Amino acid sequence: MSCQITASCIGCYNCLEVCPRGAIVEEAGHFAIRVKRCNECRENKPGPRCQLICPVEGAICKVVKLCKVEK
Ligand code: SF4
Ligand code: SF4
Repeated sequence: MSCQITASCIGCYNCLEVCPRGAIVEEAGHFAIRVKRCNECRENKPGPRCQLICPVEGAICKVVKLCKVEK
């Protein structure tokens, strides 16, 4: 599974800098996650690094969990 970036993204670049798998790409101000590279940061106990650092709630979500942020 992978995470995805929604339309509420404000383009702050925070997620791009923390992704250890180079899964986040930016083209002309639009950010996206390459599904085949993202593993939802499974090895990181607190959760997806990109989601944790994103300042906008709901801008990054797990595809199957429909943007519910896990506490
Ligand atoms: S969940 Fe982890 S691997 Fe996937 S895009 Fe975010 S930081 Fe990268
Ligand atoms: S951290 Fe959030 S708001 Fe910033 S570029 Fe990534 S998805 Fe967009």
